Amino acid sequence: MKKVVGIFGGSFNPVHRGHIMLAQYLSQHSHLDEVWLTLSPQNPFKVSKELLDDNHRLSMLQLATDGIDGVEVCDIELSMPRPSYTINTLERLSQEYPQYQFNIVIGGDNWNLFDKWKDYSRIINEYGVVVYPRPGYELNPIGDTNVVFVDAPLADVSSTEIRNSIANGKDVEELLPQGVWEYIKANNLYN
Ligand code: ATP
Repeated sequence: MKKVVGIFGGSFNPVHRGHIMLAQYLSQHSHLDEVWLTLSPQNPFKVSKELLDDNHRLSMLQLATDGIDGVEVCDIELSMPRPSYTINTLERLSQEYPQYQFNIVIGGDNWNLFDKWKDYSRIINEYGVVVYPRPGYELNPIGDTNVVFVDAPLADVSSTEIRNSIANGKDVEELLPQGVWEYIKANNLYN
């Protein structure tokens, strides 16, 4: 049997404890053997001054996952044509790592819009989807063995809240994974 890797994508601007808690939970309590936090690059057509440089966001992901079993960082989308579609990322990952089966990890908010995603039925049938709850979003389940709903615990934290707090001079160390607060301070980010 191939190892199953969950691709958990995001902008991670910055990565926070909620992301790490979820990834760790899924690697321990679902059929996923590993979870790869997969960095979405800057979109050249949607330049946002809030979105930090790819390299900073990648460095923070590396600090946050250092020494955490079953949770890894994936930067494959940084070298792919943009904007990147999930189906293309999954195809590329499968070519590069034929020893793994890839699933995607998405929140209930995205699941409810999933039929708008490019090639969504191929994502379900050829790969697989793991859905975790998001507060305020009711889940519309379907009876497909390739779509697994996991009742993961959620931390009430968001990157937006963290960026705003830093800009307002607050200490947000307790919301951030190991090393990330030091990195933000040392590089004077989000001010
Ligand atoms: P922002 O506030 O900048 O939109 P975010 O943390 O909501 O950031 P991303 O950095 O893109 O979003 O996070 C990647 C994924 O993590 C998203 O799909 C989102 O559903 C999920 N996520 C965000 N916050 C949490 C949380 N507290 N617990 C679990 N998952 C979360």
